[in-house]
Amino acid sequence: MGTRLQAPPVRDDGLLIGGSWRAAARSFERHNPARPGELVGRSAVATPEDVAAAYAAAHAAARPWRQTLQTQRGAILVRAAELIEQRVDALAAMLAAEEGKALRDARGEVRRAAAIFRFHGGESQQPIGEIYPSATAGTLLQAVREPLGVVCVITPWNFPIAIPAWKLAPALMYGNTVVFKPAEIASGTAVMLAELLQEAGLPDGVLNLLTGYGGELSTALLGAPELDGVTFTGSNAVGRQIAAAAAGAGVKTQLELGGKNPSVVLADADLERATGCITRSAMLSTGQRCTATSRAIVVDELFDELAQRLVDAAERLVVGDPLEEQTEVGPLSGPAQYEKVTTHMRGADGDGLQLATGGQPGDPAGGYFVTPTIYIDVDPRHPVATEEIFGPVLALIRARDEADAIRLANDTRYGLSASVFTSDLRSAMRCAAELQAGVVHVNGETAGAEPHVPFGGVKGSSSGSREQGKAAREFFTELKTVYIEDL
Ligand code: NAD
Repeated sequence: MGTRLQAPPVRDDGLLIGGSWRAAARSFERHNPARPGELVGRSAVATPEDVAAAYAAAHAAARPWRQTLQTQRGAILVRAAELIEQRVDALAAMLAAEEGKALRDARGEVRRAAAIFRFHGGESQQPIGEIYPSATAGTLLQAVREPLGVVCVITPWNFPIAIPAWKLAPALMYGNTVVFKPAEIASGTAVMLAELLQEAGLPDGVLNLLTGYGGELSTALLGAPELDGVTFTGSNAVGRQIAAAAAGAGVKTQLELGGKNPSVVLADADLERATGCITRSAMLSTGQRCTATSRAIVVDELFDELAQRLVDAAERLVVGDPLEEQTEVGPLSGPAQYEKVTTHMRGADGDGLQLATGGQPGDPAGGYFVTPTIYIDVDPRHPVATEEIFGPVLALIRARDEADAIRLANDTRYGLSASVFTSDLRSAMRCAAELQAGVVHVNGETAGAEPHVPFGGVKGSSSGSREQGKAAREFFTELKTVYIEDL
């Protein structure tokens, strides 16, 4: 047995409204997906009345907050980054306990959240507009960025601190106030983050946290008269509902949705590198990353050898309790994910797909574990090759040549990330240009994004402007053009 960290206890009166933590009439339990009998904590269930109170608080705080110096707001974010860095183990243990992410990945995610806060803290010193030459003498013509206003932030459970960080940090730095609705099962992490931001110096009402059920709160969250914009990351189904509601209300939206990300392996690829990158991208974080590789599209001449290498690598991964240091692959995040992934496995079985490894889920009473699973020679129209499974499941698809591989890679409604393995610069450049994805890696993992560059997808994977890096300001600010005449 290795060492096992414990998730810290967090408050269960988890509604932060106008700077005070409020008790709720109802709560729900969060269980450890590796040990379903183990209670990690309870979280408050917000009501539509709580949503209205949160928007009122965000609205009241908006004017004083936008009037603070941008550099002061940046300093609060830098302080938050420091506090996150001081609490890496506690936060990582919470991620591991409530959504099953292996500690090594959980620590990486927490450090990344700190890097995101630090980056946006630094961005507070960047220019806030542009000055243009005017057609009229004696006119100063400028375009300046102003905060969007009151923003609703809705996040999924699979990156419970990094995604809130990459939405909250720019929202706050550019002077917006926020109503934050995290995913149900990741509510403990959200409470820790909100407390930490209070401690970093965020004034009352600037960030309001509502835990609870997204479906129940939808009308109140998206129909609030104070709402100026909603930034959402999650499933395509919920994203579509949010887009429709926001369009009806005339509210700005930013949606980051699902993926079915391909790795293309060409004849001159470095097989060892391709094996390592595809295995990590497909299987780590239990395949529950929007940028996970779920299709490996491999040219005929390398297919059998790469398939064997991928199977060997998948079988070497250590699957186990995410709170133990040696674990590489934890459980799925809970019963809903377990049901979704095992339904796909049963479907693959029934349709006679060629199973190369895995595919045999354990008894969910002992944790929501499935072992890394690879299907080979998958028909590109089979649901295993077309649906976002969101588990450690890889479909290997055979391609004739580079052109066929690109056609197969693009034959999807999604377009988040993609990778290509080749040692030929021309092939690399051609693939980078032709792959329909918002992020392309050459000789790298489809998963992974650095915090200072734009992130987002094309086609059904995204809508609205890019997140992260400088690109984040497109959503969180509005441009005001000011003519100062007769100077
Ligand atoms: P989800 O859509 O079920 O839930 C996301 C959030 O929406 C949660 O906070 C939930 O409470 C809330 N919600 C649910 N119904 C709602 C409604 N009707 N109105 C308002 N809010 C509602 O997604 P999930 O299962 O938490 O996350 C997994 C999904 O997220 C996957 O599809 C994955 O690809 C996607 N994802 C995308 C990215 C990206 O950057 N593109 C990153 C991570 C995850």
